[in-house]
Amino acid sequence: MSAVRDKHIIVAGAGPAGLLAALALAREGLEVSLVGQTVPEAGGRTVALFQHSVHLLTELGAWKTLAPQAAPLRKLRIIDDTDNLFRWRPLTFAASEIGLDAFGWNVEAGALAASLRRLAETVPSIRLMDGVFEEPRFEAETASIAVKGQNGGKNLGRIEAALIVAADGQRSQLRQAAGIRAHLERLPQSALTAILAHALPHDDVSTEFHMRGGPCTLVPLPALIDATAAPPESRAFRYRSSLVWMLRQEEAQRLAALDDDAFALMVERRVHAILGKMRVAGPRGAVPLASLDVTRFHGQRLALVGEAAHAFPPIGAQGLNLGLRDAAALAALAGEALRDGHDVGGELLLEAYDRARRGDVTSRAGIVKAMNRSLLSPFLPVDFVRGLGMAALDLIPPLRHFVMREGVAPGFHS
Ligand SMILES: Cc1cc2nc3c(=O)[nH]c(=O)nc-3n(C[C@H](O)[C@H](O)[C@H](O)COP(=O)(O)OP(=O)(O)OC[C@H]3O[C@@H](n4cnc5c(N)ncnc54)[C@H](O)[C@@H]3O)c2cc1C
Repeated sequence: MSAVRDKHIIVAGAGPAGLLAALALAREGLEVSLVGQTVPEAGGRTVALFQHSVHLLTELGAWKTLAPQAAPLRKLRIIDDTDNLFRWRPLTFAASEIGLDAFGWNVEAGALAASLRRLAETVPSIRLMDGVFEEPRFEAETASIAVKGQNGGKNLGRIEAALIVAADGQRSQLRQAAGIRAHLERLPQSALTAILAHALPHDDVSTEFHMRGGPCTLVPLPALIDATAAPPESRAFRYRSSLVWMLRQEEAQRLAALDDDAFALMVERRVHAILGKMRVAGPRGAVPLASLDVTRFHGQRLALVGEAAHAFPPIGAQGLNLGLRDAAALAALAGEALRDGHDVGGELLLEAYDRARRGDVTSRAGIVKAMNRSLLSPFLPVDFVRGLGMAALDLIPPLRHFVMREGVAPGFHS
């Protein structure tokens, strides 16, 4: 097979980043084999998707079914709830300050994955292979993997393509096989996740309490649609938010072991009852956190997307938004190469992909990790700098607006 003429791309891993990459590549006219299962996300996890991501989902035809299940994030509030001597007052950022209706929308992770999977099933140029891949080979002209059915199922054969997109998560087997150096570090924290119902409206405000073990964030979800039809007991808890609470491992384990009522009461108290009485309204989860940096975003006939390329703590809702921008950037470059008759898995394209993604990923990962370290640090000078940072964001409008725009996407303009 000549890679130069080939327009077949393998996307390995069918999590949200892989699904998005497959859809975006197919839209550019490429033939895609998407290998992997899409596991419905349990554990009450949601994803806040910023404007750019929602635009991409809209262009791909995925947002229409998700929009009714998503809640807008019109304001972001940060409350320093530590014992910091230099604690600044709570900050509220309104999307309207930078000309937006909302910074983004929050949707259940399971709903997002299921909707992308259903969409991928309808695209003729995407072949879905519900299997496990192994034995990757990267050669000058092509790359290939062997595919097996789930749970040691039968051999589905070896597939080859001009390019493999590694969307196989933090422990990416493909990244390792390609010899891309990576630093994967377990963090001393876990994130507790849950869907909570509460008595008071969130008013489309996402609230992040900065605490010593990490932030505790309440992110708006749509209210119960027809609360009047619900029993009076449920009507009192018609509003919903998702919880992402980062804590040191031991504390996270202790709270994860609480029953739902005790857990809801604990959260309610910890967030100073800003949303009134709370109850757990869905599954809960506990995710051990890690941070991952790679030296390159590509190897021979291999491009890394999503958490195969970057991972960091869930602060500021950046992870999947970056993953979606990886997918969009790669698809745009591959589409251009295809139209110009160039190799869609060649070195030139992959170097361009690396350049396109490096700044966005490293700057955001750096900021998120520094913020996390500053909360874990017991040192006064670190507290001082954090307090100073919040004061600057409060008092210097151009800085504040710059940070808001950059939080949504690099170089974002409404
Ligand atoms: C608590 C929490 C809250 C978060 N909130 C947000 C948020 O609000 N906004 C945001 O943008 N991001 C958020 N994130 C980050 C976001 O969840 C991740 O960036 C995203 O889920 C990563 O998706 P992915 O597809 O890259 O990786 P994964 O979801 O890990 O998918 C990798 C896939 O590859 C498959 N795979 C691996 N090996 C093989 C193999 N050999 N064969 C077949 N398949 C294979 C796996 O089974 C899996 O399905 C949050 C993260 C956490 C932990």
